[in-house]
Amino acid sequence: MSTNIAVPQVSNSTSILLQGARNASTSAAARTAANTDRSGYVPQTLPDGVVYAESAQDVVDSMRLASAHRVPIVPRGAGTGLAAGASAQAGEVVLDVSRMNQIISIDPVEQLAVVQPGVLNAEVNAAAAEYGLFYAPDPASTAICSIGGNIATNAGGMWCAKYGVTRESVLSLKVVLADGRVLQTGRNTIKGVTGYDLNALIIGSEGTLGIVVEAILRLRPRPVRTETLAAYFPDVETAGRAASAITAAHIQPSILELMDGPTLDAVDRAEGTRHRELGGAFILAQTDGYGAHLELDEVARAIDPFATSVHRAADQLEADALLKARRDAIPALEKLGRVSIGDIAVPRNRLAEAFAGLDDIAARTGVRIFSVAHAADGNLHPMIVVDPAESITEGPAKSALSDMFHLARRLGGTLTGEHGVGLLKRQWIGEELGETSLELQRAIKDAFDPTGILNPGKGI
Ligand SMILES: Cc1cc2nc3c(=O)[nH]c(=O)nc-3n(C[C@H](O)[C@H](O)[C@H](O)COP(=O)(O)OP(=O)(O)OC[C@H]3O[C@@H](n4cnc5c(N)ncnc54)[C@H](O)[C@@H]3O)c2cc1C
Repeated sequence: MSTNIAVPQVSNSTSILLQGARNASTSAAARTAANTDRSGYVPQTLPDGVVYAESAQDVVDSMRLASAHRVPIVPRGAGTGLAAGASAQAGEVVLDVSRMNQIISIDPVEQLAVVQPGVLNAEVNAAAAEYGLFYAPDPASTAICSIGGNIATNAGGMWCAKYGVTRESVLSLKVVLADGRVLQTGRNTIKGVTGYDLNALIIGSEGTLGIVVEAILRLRPRPVRTETLAAYFPDVETAGRAASAITAAHIQPSILELMDGPTLDAVDRAEGTRHRELGGAFILAQTDGYGAHLELDEVARAIDPFATSVHRAADQLEADALLKARRDAIPALEKLGRVSIGDIAVPRNRLAEAFAGLDDIAARTGVRIFSVAHAADGNLHPMIVVDPAESITEGPAKSALSDMFHLARRLGGTLTGEHGVGLLKRQWIGEELGETSLELQRAIKDAFDPTGILNPGKGI
């Protein structure tokens, strides 16, 4: 597959927008940098240009022009998405909000942060830590992904096992609509039920309903204490059974992550660690709060019948090293080839069946599949690694993705737990949603974006 992308002519309508915007570029370098994300998807053409918004007013001005001239707009945060949601092609303009990266204020009493969309997830947490607070949705990409992208994908992370995903931590949004009007959603109180919940609707809408230009985030008190363990298992199915046993025992860890043997191998090679020697699969569990040590005892008790060894972290340094191993899983696999990351979620008591099904898919399609999982949420990331010259949207990789989706559905699960539909999973959403839901979803899209200029071809 060729990765030489054609540099197309810029159309008349896009050039009106690109000339009218305060900061824009049509250079091949800018268009190449903004043309895809970390999904492994390679578009065959480049977008016509990139607008770099520095304020909400810049976004309003761009959307007014885009709406008047019917220019398709692809919103972009940090470009770390895994569903090709921010990928853009000829005839489209990328609206990059990464320069809108300020933390406007933190209210330690109300435990709220007001932020611009381009601020990085880890920067919010660093700022909150100064007040003894934290922002719970912590994707493994925390150091490189933006809050706007997190909101648009309803991102999850390790702490979501206990504290919920992005939707549970965003109280209010300022959103620029397709025609340039500004919509305020939600409120800055913890409770509130006036009207339909447009805040929840925008979260996870993948840039197809509006562009987030400001958010009020809910912060939480930092746990007084955390306790961490690493457990090793003979194989990934046994580890899946152990994770399900923790859920069944009504224990609520703040982190419950799982990695299979091949992923441990890749992490060891990239990091110089030696996890694979200890087992064919690994679970990382963390508990927090005043009773963290007692709760971790319960976790250890629940997994004892399955584990070959259990190791409690002696201090924060050791706990951080274990968390880093999990966070580094995707970059470690990216060293092996082009990675396409599945994102299925299944009921939490069916993890072992899901891992067995993935083994069958690997055997049937001949693709290499590495797996990690946010085990407490039943959210698996089966990662297909192909040769860098191979496509992830055709051939065996595509068959494997399709089989994964059908496996999830058979087990009562879903196509995507947290990465979103983007371009890559669009063909399967009808099967999951059904016609009535799809019709309503299309009507919602029409109400927000009647000319269809916001992130066309993505999401629904
Ligand atoms: C190493 C690695 C680990 C990862 N781990 C996780 C994980 O644990 N959990 C998880 O959920 N994800 C994970 N991801 C995926 C990715 O980081 C998340 O999806 C993240 O939320 C994307 O943020 P972004 O700023 O990079 O968004 P982008 O990739 O720029 O955009 C993603 C989508 O959001 C839209 N968008 C971006 N900004 C806005 C805005 N301001 N308004 C409206 N729409 C917007 C785009 O159009 C696109 O559809 C990981 C990615 C990598 C590379």
